[in-house]
Amino acid sequence: MSDNRPRLDREQAIAAYLQYATRLPQIDPSVVPTATQHVSNLLAIAGQFDLIVFDAFGVLNSGKQAIPGAVTAVATLKDQGKRLAVITNDASSSADAIIARHRGRGFDFDRESLISSQQFVAPLMAGYAEIGLWGAMAPSSWPFDILPGQVHALGDDPELYDGVDGFVLIDSEGWTPNRQNLLEQSLMRRGRPILVGNPDICAPMGDFLSVEAGYFAHKAADMCGVMPQCVGKPYVEVFEEVMRRNPDVAADRILMVGDTLHTDVLGGLAAGIKTLLVTHGGFLDGYGDLEGLYARSGLRPHFLARAIGNGLEQADVA
Ligand SMILES: [Mg+2]
Repeated sequence: MSDNRPRLDREQAIAAYLQYATRLPQIDPSVVPTATQHVSNLLAIAGQFDLIVFDAFGVLNSGKQAIPGAVTAVATLKDQGKRLAVITNDASSSADAIIARHRGRGFDFDRESLISSQQFVAPLMAGYAEIGLWGAMAPSSWPFDILPGQVHALGDDPELYDGVDGFVLIDSEGWTPNRQNLLEQSLMRRGRPILVGNPDICAPMGDFLSVEAGYFAHKAADMCGVMPQCVGKPYVEVFEEVMRRNPDVAADRILMVGDTLHTDVLGGLAAGIKTLLVTHGGFLDGYGDLEGLYARSGLRPHFLARAIGNGLEQADVA
């Protein structure tokens, strides 16, 4: 992902998550904890868990940079024999490329530890056997050959939008207001399925929030009344994959760590696992009214920490 894409401010992003909450997984209120325990960092509660599942953006890294203390926290968990997994909605890259970037930041994750929403896009599309021609939100360099059917990258040609039978929104790199307008106008003329490979509204990119495919999907869906079909957090497939790869770990020994209530915490709660929300370097960095946000969203994490490696910053290896 690069820095030349549309931006949202945090209040706009929170408003969007709240506005579109009915399109997100619905949970029984009984799975939401009644109180949130504040902890110093992830290591303070690691003894309660055998498998730690990380969101990447806002937990491990902000933009290209590792969040201070995170490298030490992850290395310590690995030394303790904890199993580690990373769930990413960054469908722009291959799993190998994502792991390589994390290694470059100092995180020693195995290839098998990464679960990307990208791997669920093709199965989702395969459920629409009647659709032969798809229009995709993704840069032309994206590996369309892993997808079923015929897939055209959506650009600035209006005729392409009316000519496809379904849309798959994967990666907002290069997406522009003009392309979004073409998509919305085309869907107003004829509603068609909208599939989403990155349901995030936004992603923290260091000093700004980039607008991700989920936001554009919701805006487009508003034009035609079609319910977007999404894979990735907070939807169930990625969490089921974590459990499929770790069948011997009980759900109550799994912790989901994230920086966003409506993706990481909601997804963890829906999957029946414990949740840790972190703030520093992520979506809620400096946010002044977390309790108010919990009340407005009906969501709350089991644990809250400033960062997974809060207090461990000095131990990070340069
Ligand atoms: Mg995140």
